[in-house]
Amino acid sequence: MRIFDSHAHYDDSRYSEDFQTVMDKNKAAGVEKIMLAATDLDSSKHLIEMAKSNSLFLASVGIHPENAKYAKKEDLLEIEALAKDPAVRAIGEIGLDYHYGSDKEEQKFYFEKLLDIAEKAEKPVIIHSRDATEDVMNILRSRKIHNGVVHCFSGSKETAAELLKMGYYIGFTGVVTFKNASRAVENVAAVPIERLLIETDCPYMAPEPHRGERNDSSYLTYIAEKISEIKNISPEEVAEITYNNACRLFGERGK
Ligand SMILES: [Zn+2]
Repeated sequence: MRIFDSHAHYDDSRYSEDFQTVMDKNKAAGVEKIMLAATDLDSSKHLIEMAKSNSLFLASVGIHPENAKYAKKEDLLEIEALAKDPAVRAIGEIGLDYHYGSDKEEQKFYFEKLLDIAEKAEKPVIIHSRDATEDVMNILRSRKIHNGVVHCFSGSKETAAELLKMGYYIGFTGVVTFKNASRAVENVAAVPIERLLIETDCPYMAPEPHRGERNDSSYLTYIAEKISEIKNISPEEVAEITYNNACRLFGERGK
């Protein structure tokens, strides 16, 4: 089995003490590629360094919507310059998160500007959308380019169908393994396997039976297993097809 983790945060300090041990565990599980999702300007720079020193990693650059309130307009100029780097395979994670957000206008400002950067750099986007479906969809509908993934998808079947029609991939995390995950399970069933990505969003979102613990890419085997039950194919097929999907999206050589 070879696995592509399409969304991870290995620059998180929770890995600083045992980084190599985690990577060895990932390798033993078949993890061959990991897309690192940026959360702000500093993390964008850090991820490019990580991707350049280890062929396991692909980098993205961006500003997470929860960090819009800390961002400066000048950060966008730096991110635009970084986006040209060949190690950068996506602009992300970007989007809207109204869960705690009282800064909707700031979030929308950065989301739009980062979409402009993605269009100019001709790179795919990694979209984060939480409690903000209507505004995210309105912004995406207003765009010409629809190359990307909506990660940790938690929307309705109707929203998934519209995103698929636009051309997006849909990313699923450990949430599909949770006991109360009927919506995620329905969405996995509705999304064609050729348009589906698997992701950890680690260190968050660990799947059952590790829910609540620090997550890592080796746990994608549980997610592949769960999706294989829903799709009625083998876990190996789930891993291989989603591996190739992520390669196609992020411009990496697959098979
Ligand atoms: Zn993330």
